[in-house]
Amino acid sequence: MSRIAYVDGSYRPHREAAVHIEDRGYQFADGVYEVFAVRGGHLVDEALHLQRLRRSLRELKIEGAMGDAPLGVVLREVVRRNGVDNGIVYLQITRGAAPRDHAFPREARPVTVVTARRSRPPNPKLGEEGISVITIPDIRWQRCDIKSVALVANVLGKQRAREAGAYEAWQVDTLGRITEGTSTNAWIVTGDNQVVTRFIDHAILNGVTRLALIDIIRREGYRFVERTFTVAEAKFAREAFLTSTTSDVLPVVSIDGDTIADGVPGPLTRKLRASYIAHAENG
Ligand code: PLP
Repeated sequence: MSRIAYVDGSYRPHREAAVHIEDRGYQFADGVYEVFAVRGGHLVDEALHLQRLRRSLRELKIEGAMGDAPLGVVLREVVRRNGVDNGIVYLQITRGAAPRDHAFPREARPVTVVTARRSRPPNPKLGEEGISVITIPDIRWQRCDIKSVALVANVLGKQRAREAGAYEAWQVDTLGRITEGTSTNAWIVTGDNQVVTRFIDHAILNGVTRLALIDIIRREGYRFVERTFTVAEAKFAREAFLTSTTSDVLPVVSIDGDTIADGVPGPLTRKLRASYIAHAENG
């Protein structure tokens, strides 16, 4: 089955699909995106992704983008045309194409691109054995709450992780507190079994997986708090893990080469991972 992309109103073979060279997403990273997981043919937490998309568009003052209902039709159609049962859907909306000028162009209209591909959930081995992370300075802009396509700092961070043989890089603010991963949210479990993740403000993205997991944690009656935590606290935590649409919930067993607790995924992380996977599959 050949891949099909949706580009600005039409479905096109993936290899021919293209946007204008003066698309502002290309020239200014002036656009937003979402990545949805597809499990068993359905979009996981679609409503939460669409809510975050609307917020990102609002914050960047991108007006006139497709509404939720037609967008939902396109998302499903791209999933169907690409025969994706398990995989991801990528959605990007930019301010559109116009002669290059920093200020908003009067004539541009938003350009929407949707692609989908089959992929497996993360290797179960990562869930069983855990992953390692490194820490790096958070050099990003001050509106990380917007899911903007301006990801070059995240790209550089992820590459540092790859080169260090780690799965992810956790970014650290000037006070030594972990903000989030380059494409994941960061969590720890304290010595008294409190699940901790950073509160949301402009410094981190409010992950949809984060939100879904908070819901699970509350429903299942675990102790939970939203607060900052330092690299030192994370290294001495009882458990640590990360979350994202493409990683689910993955145990972190080492930070900067320092082993977390006894170096194997913790029991609470394992339970939360299982509950999240059940949620994604059935939700
Ligand atoms: N933080 C950042 C910087 C991200 O890019 C992502 C996902 O891409 C996340 C957190 C996790 O968000 P979600 O759970 O919605 O995938």
